[in-house]
Parts: sequence; C-alpha cells; structure tokens
Amino acid sequence: MNTVHLTLFTKQCLPAKIKESDMSKRTMSKVAQSGWVLGICIGLTTLSACSETQSETVDEPPPIRVDAAGATILETAGGTVRVHALQIGTVAVKRCHETLCGPEDTTLIERVLAMLMDRAFQPPMPIFVYAIEHPEGVFVVDTGELAKFNSDPSYYACDPGEGQFDRGLLKVDVSPEQEVGPQLERLGIDPASVSGVVITHLHADHTGGVPYFPGVPIYVSEVDYDLGASGGFVTCRSLGNAELRFFEQQPTIDDELTGVFGPSSALTSDGAIRLVPTPGHTAGSRSVMVDGLDVDLMFVGDAFFDEEMLTNEQQAGINADFDANRDTYRKLKEWAETRPIVVLPAHDWASPERLKQGATPPFGAPLP
Ligand SMILES: [Zn+2]
Repeated sequence: MNTVHLTLFTKQCLPAKIKESDMSKRTMSKVAQSGWVLGICIGLTTLSACSETQSETVDEPPPIRVDAAGATILETAGGTVRVHALQIGTVAVKRCHETLCGPEDTTLIERVLAMLMDRAFQPPMPIFVYAIEHPEGVFVVDTGELAKFNSDPSYYACDPGEGQFDRGLLKVDVSPEQEVGPQLERLGIDPASVSGVVITHLHADHTGGVPYFPGVPIYVSEVDYDLGASGGFVTCRSLGNAELRFFEQQPTIDDELTGVFGPSSALTSDGAIRLVPTPGHTAGSRSVMVDGLDVDLMFVGDAFFDEEMLTNEQQAGINADFDANRDTYRKLKEWAETRPIVVLPAHDWASPERLKQGATPPFGAPLP
C-alpha cells in the first residue's frame, strides 16, 4: 500500500497539493477530472466546513492490483477496470516468420513463399486474448483460433485453399475448452453479450474465435480488410457473418496521444479504452490502450511477439512494412518515457505476469 500525504486548501477545495508523493501531473489532472479531488473536498467540507488548510494522510491503492480471481484491476477516469489474460492454446511459426532472416528489400509475398517452403516450425508461442471489464461493458481484444484449425476439413468449406495456406504457415494447438467462448463463460461472461471485440489485425490466429460473438460489433481495419480480401488474409470462416466495424470510421480523439501515435478513437464514452494506430505488422494494425490513472495498458497484438523484440527493435519476417513497424517501436518508447506503460503482445509468454505486476522495464518508468 502506498501512502501519500495530501494538503488540501479546502477554502475553495482546489487545488489539492500532493507532498511526498510520486503521483504524476497527469495523474493529478485525471484525478481532478474524475472528481476524486472534489470528492475528498466534499468529504472534508462535511467534517470541517472547509474553513482552513487541512493535512490528511490517505492510503493510495497500488496502481495495479490483482483480485482473488486473478484479474488485474486498475483505475481509469471512468471507473475501475478488470482485465483477464486468456491463453487460447499455442501457435508455432517458421523461423523466418518469427524473425526476419534476410534483407528487408524483399516483398511480403517472397517471404511468405519462403516460409511455406520451410517445413520446420519453431517452438510454440502462446496465443493470448484479453477481456477488459469496464463499467460500460466488456471488450475483448482478439479471439485466438479454434480447435478445428487442424482437425476439421469442413472448417475451410467456404475457402478450401485458405486451409492449406494457413496450416502451411501456422501450427495451432488449441483444445475446445481453451477456445475463447468457453473461457469467457467460465469467467461468467456471455460472449454474445460483450460490447465489442477488437481484432488487432486480421491474421487467422486472431480472428478464429469471432463466431463466438454473434451480433457483437467486431472492430477491424478497413485497410487490412480490403488488402486481405484480395490477398487471402481475410478468413470467410471467421468473418463471413461478423458485424464488422471499421477502425477508420470510428470518431477520433485529438489529444496528447495523437501527438505521438496519430488519431486514436474511443471505445468507451470516457475514452479510457482506445484504439491506437500501430501499423507495421500489417498496414492497419491497431493496439488497444487502457488509459489508466497511473499506468497505461497497451494490447499491441503482433506489433512485436515479445518484449525483447521491442527492446532490440527486431523485425518479424511476416511484417508487412518494416519502416512503419520501426516507427511504431519509436512511438511506443516515446510514450513510455512519459508514463508507465505495460506492453501486452498476443504471443509473449511473459504477458500475464507483466499484466499482474504492472511495470514494463526497460521502457516504462518503474511504478511507485
Ligand atoms: Zn499476426
């Protein structure tokens, strides 16, 4: 438990001045926005008629907590958010898919053909899906794949060629119980009742579980959708009946995030859950940000497969645009210089632990 000492100039109830605290200016402005300061003042007004300067010692909860169910809890301007990391089995890729093998001046098609020719898969990586419980509803980031990926030829009935292509690139190991629908149900969340599903990009191991969300808005990139529809990256089995909403058509917010990443858009009315452009892995890739009072969570999809790739600015061979991905690395690091952020890739074994502990060394400032 962190203790902060607040000196409140209670005549006017503002400003609240923080002493011996490492609370950031940003936190203070958000605290003020969210009414905490006002709430404290109103409380003190009742007790002391706001007549003179008061000194109080209050206990501040840590920026990130974990509840008995293992969910991460953090505070946002709009209220408390609970986040779950769900592992949807594993996926293995080829060596030159995971890390760029040759020069950058090759086309994606050339690189994909080389991957298909390589018969050896790398050790499996986890597939993580994240569920964010916000006061306005539950939002899910990516959907993983289904057990049928390997075993059921009828899974590819709407596009038989796609099955061969996907299984040539990916080795998926998911059991029926690990699929996103049953996992959400075990948390007490009805998949059909969630408020929205964000697909960070349209690769198969992120879209396979979409049919668990009938009638739910499925947020995808229009750029990727159009590219994928012509290039075989849009899976009819997953997206054929989905209620698609395009990132590019969401209303954007112009604030300090825009200065770094370009226009983001809000999924919740308080702006606490955002879609942030992080292109490179695909042209339209988005990250989902939970804009916390003291720490931001960035669900980055496949912008990098693990934190080491961000640290060393390594490129995945499957990335569509290396320059754009480098730019995304630079922006993430720039953002992390101003406040603690937790980066949460879809395939990083360390993501759940990082989500529970909060800090993102070496880029995020250490949490208090
Ligand atoms: Zn991907």
